[in-house]
Amino acid sequence: MTEVEIVTPENSLSTGQSVPDQHPPLETETVHHWKVACAGDAARGLGHPKVWLQISPAMGYVDCGYCDKRFVIDPDHVIDDH
Ligand SMILES: [Zn+2]
Repeated sequence: MTEVEIVTPENSLSTGQSVPDQHPPLETETVHHWKVACAGDAARGLGHPKVWLQISPAMGYVDCGYCDKRFVIDPDHVIDDH
């Protein structure tokens, strides 16, 4: 009779930590307009071509595709400039 001992390593390389699919935004800014412009942060060398972002009322925020900055609408202080 042979007794087989199964040793489980304490430090598993595969299931230690799960990496979330969606990384958090680098920065969050509260804005009062549904349409915002983002050109990155040139002062920190993180500038990019200026883009206009439209916040979806259903979402309440929009992420910049260039610098991952998130613009969150302040629903109580929206300035509707139509
Ligand atoms: Zn940006």
